[in-house]
Amino acid sequence: MFGLMQDRPLLISDLIEFAALHHGGEEIVSRTIEGPIHRYTYRQCAARARRLAKALLGLGVEKGDRIATLAWNGYRHVEIYYGISGMGAVCHTINPRLFPEQIGYIVNHAEDKYIFTDLTFVPLLEKLADQIKQVKGVVIMTDQAHMPQTQLPNVICYESLLDGVDDEFRWPLFDERTASSLCYTSGTTGNPKGVLFSHRSTVLHSYAICSKDAVALGNEETILPVVPMFHVNAWGVPYAAAMCGAKMVMPGARLDGASIYELLESEQVTIALGVPTVWMMLLAYMKENGKRLSSVQRTVIGGSAAPRSMIEAFEKEYDVRVIHAWGMTEMSPVGTVCNMKKKHKNISSEDKTKLQLKQGRAVYGVDMKIVDANGRDLPWDGRAFGNLLVRGPWITSGYFKGEGGGILDEEGWFDTGDVATIDPDGYMQITDRSKDVIKSGGEWISSIDVENSAVGCPGIAEAAVIAVPHPKWDERPLLIAVKKKDAQVTREDVLAHLKGTLAKWQLPDDVVFVDQLPHTATGKLLKTQLRDQYKNFKLPTV
Ligand code: AMP
Repeated sequence: MFGLMQDRPLLISDLIEFAALHHGGEEIVSRTIEGPIHRYTYRQCAARARRLAKALLGLGVEKGDRIATLAWNGYRHVEIYYGISGMGAVCHTINPRLFPEQIGYIVNHAEDKYIFTDLTFVPLLEKLADQIKQVKGVVIMTDQAHMPQTQLPNVICYESLLDGVDDEFRWPLFDERTASSLCYTSGTTGNPKGVLFSHRSTVLHSYAICSKDAVALGNEETILPVVPMFHVNAWGVPYAAAMCGAKMVMPGARLDGASIYELLESEQVTIALGVPTVWMMLLAYMKENGKRLSSVQRTVIGGSAAPRSMIEAFEKEYDVRVIHAWGMTEMSPVGTVCNMKKKHKNISSEDKTKLQLKQGRAVYGVDMKIVDANGRDLPWDGRAFGNLLVRGPWITSGYFKGEGGGILDEEGWFDTGDVATIDPDGYMQITDRSKDVIKSGGEWISSIDVENSAVGCPGIAEAAVIAVPHPKWDERPLLIAVKKKDAQVTREDVLAHLKGTLAKWQLPDDVVFVDQLPHTATGKLLKTQLRDQYKNFKLPTV
């Protein structure tokens, strides 16, 4: 017997209309590519999203068509999210930091019909024009006054496109499982693969991240997603913020410490979300310039492990609560969030930091487990580590166009490629990417542990640890580090520091200093390149 509740589909268009109706006067503030700060309301955003949907129909866009964006976080990009998905097409956010050939590949793979671009990326598209001939037109996200001279064929000015229509538009109703947006994973090897989100997965994910034990978003927050809208939909913030009608602050193209600090203060942001790299830049800027934070209460750190030194700086020096979170593109992205439990109310500050170093507890909707190499379940004792598997309604069931084949096991579990422990309270801790662990004499060394410890060493700005082949131990760790500006730190200083936190067999066999480390388009360390570069490195222990 079915229940007798209404079967109203969960649709993205309802999010923006809800915000417009119940929080119509709440603001979306953006640093524009043209320069000035732009501010308007959810009511205006919804009206312009409707106009865009109507204009897209006029351009011949049909349900299911992929429409790409190459854009920073800004109000037009928010309208585009809602306009495209709301009318039933698929919003394909492209990461502009990918190599141009990869961008060409994914535009063709996705069969994008139109591309919406910020002014910043017009030169990039000009270079790609010959490679992406099936694209019908490029919409430049600016007004007539700022339209650039360009050789691109079929160029449309965004504001003129909207000027051509009114906002009398009824969002269509359709199956909530309809595809809504598409995001390719950066892929450190091989071609990027597309993760295709649905209206249903997006709305459920928004409920999840708003909930108290996840990120606890509500109308009283002012949210600044530093995480770009081309990286897993800015972790779902543009949808979740609309769900609770919270003020949103969009940083545009300027993600350096000074620019982010300025927005945090001028807009009185209460919660900001980003990867460790951006927080490193912000913390360095605040320290160098003696700045304080007057409104920020929480930072969400994810995408890579939050180092201890960063957690301590935010918590102890700036009185900002750190929320460590973990997820991946394939998971929309949020999987776990590190919030305390009731039992942790009176724990010492050291124990609290130790807990915050973990990636946290699963949010309701995400089922997870760890298994050994034979697929057998491992205990949740905080010590056993194994492959981390997940399943749930906002987790991918397969890549776009079947790339990579069947990716779920017979019980529907998806292997995240991460190696983790889970403690008796359900706190998961990533020990490594399965490809990155160092297998030394039958023991596994977590490259993340060594890296986190290394960046806590005075004078070290960034560190990567990779496995180097070793005749006796199979593999041994090599630490590759970048010094802070003008720092005098030596190999011996680093090793002495690591001795304080790591067991002897976990210590790197050598330390080399470099000017910079290679990163993927999403800011993660590009270890495949490092492994390749150092594959013949002669360790002093050989
Ligand atoms: P992406 O799909 O590009 O967001 O990458 C997802 C991967 O980033 C995960 O599978 C993890 O390996 C890594 N990751 C994300 N968040 C964290 C975190 N808090 N700590 C450690 N690794 C993380």
